[in-house]
Amino acid sequence: MKLTHIEHIGIAVVNLDEAISYYENVLGLKCYALEEIKDQKVKTAFFKIGQTKIELLESTDPEGPIGKFIENKGQGVHHIAFAVDKIEEALIEAESKNIKLINKTPRKGAEGLDIAFLHPKSTMGVLTELCEDKNK
Ligand code: ZN
Repeated sequence: MKLTHIEHIGIAVVNLDEAISYYENVLGLKCYALEEIKDQKVKTAFFKIGQTKIELLESTDPEGPIGKFIENKGQGVHHIAFAVDKIEEALIEAESKNIKLINKTPRKGAEGLDIAFLHPKSTMGVLTELCEDKNK
């Protein structure tokens, strides 16, 4: 597969407003988008550094994926997302190399990207997201 850059880093937080305040007032970044992704039970806030984004994730439901992550591991880095060309081919390649896929086919993620996750059991413990921006 062909990765082009780190698209974003996903960070699970307990309180989005508090986290935004830290990223803006201490790190000096500017939140440029807020988005709720209902089927993932999260609210997100986006920041940009160069061509890489930081995606803060607050759970809207303790039973959602971020709610469970925070319950098990606490706040912190949740996943790394790589921008990839031809995401469908990348998933087929990963599966052919015995990587366990969470999403066998891409789904729509934040900002209209096509995204799919590789299982952390196959990726040295790092939940890995592949994403492709088909709108560009
Ligand atoms: Zn992500």
